[in-house]
Amino acid sequence: MLTSQMVKDRAIKGGADLCGIANIDRFKDGPPETHPSSLFPEAKSVIVYASRILKGSYKGIQEGTEWSTYWIYGYGSGIYSALGGATGAIAALLEEHGHEAVASPGGHTLLDEAPPAREPLAADKQPPCIMLHMRVAAAFAGLGEPGWSKVFLTPEFGPRQRFDILLTDAELEPDPLLDEHVCDKCMACVRKCPGSALGGEREAVEVEGREFEWGRVDCGKCKVTHWGLNPKASPFVKKDLPGMQMDVEKVTYDWYEAYRLGFALAERIDYVNLVAQGTAEHGQGGRPGSVCGAVGCVQACNTHLEARGKLTGGVKGDVE
Ligand code: SF4
Ligand code: SF4
Repeated sequence: MLTSQMVKDRAIKGGADLCGIANIDRFKDGPPETHPSSLFPEAKSVIVYASRILKGSYKGIQEGTEWSTYWIYGYGSGIYSALGGATGAIAALLEEHGHEAVASPGGHTLLDEAPPAREPLAADKQPPCIMLHMRVAAAFAGLGEPGWSKVFLTPEFGPRQRFDILLTDAELEPDPLLDEHVCDKCMACVRKCPGSALGGEREAVEVEGREFEWGRVDCGKCKVTHWGLNPKASPFVKKDLPGMQMDVEKVTYDWYEAYRLGFALAERIDYVNLVAQGTAEHGQGGRPGSVCGAVGCVQACNTHLEARGKLTGGVKGDVE
């Protein structure tokens, strides 16, 4: 008989560092466009798994010498190949036991600042833009909690991981929700964010009596900073677009506007363009990347949590 432990062991063997499981009931109050049943009506369990972002991937940005490593190992194939391996391994196990497995790339910013809504293709269906909320799914699968930065924090790696999600019709034992707090509201993320993007009004979801909360993110300010258009965070824009002089405190882009601006301007910034072309084989080519290096929401938070002795670092061991 298929058990939750078998699924988790397969996830770790397949390349993930963490794996948790939620039952479908935990999503009952969520918006339909983020509900797993809108994608897979027979889904009974939601499997969420993560790969760690290596601490060393920030080194080049910290030194001011190299920006491609974080791009590849924080966002591209350097981390998603491990998650892809885990997806295939878990899905194969589920299918071998007669179940269906539906992979879904979870989203976060798209849910806050999405492109214009589409019409449903059929009267009884949701519009064709279902996007599971990755951070909520990870919380409901017992892996941790969103920090005040809205970046998801786990007791193992703090803010340093990426997630993928598999839905299945297998009824699996869910993990308990994390009852402790990883985030202690130190606000280091807010203070160190060069985009002034963090610490907006409180948002929260509640399930089984446990509340998960975070501060609203200004996704437009974050995006222009993350993609190197904010001179406070980018050594390149001053050189290649000296007339732009963006004052991030004043910009009011929404996420989608900032996203398109990043694509329009990235190729006009020499170093960003060079890195974009050079990382094409890692699945990150032709697009702007993380120039700010998540210096507030990930780096400052990680430094703080490590200094507090909060992170266990995970114990993957030698997987046989
Ligand atoms: S830096 Fe991390 S622990 Fe501190 S408030 Fe932000 S998310 Fe919470
Ligand atoms: S990615 Fe950069 S701009 Fe966005 S919240 Fe993190 S530190 Fe701030």
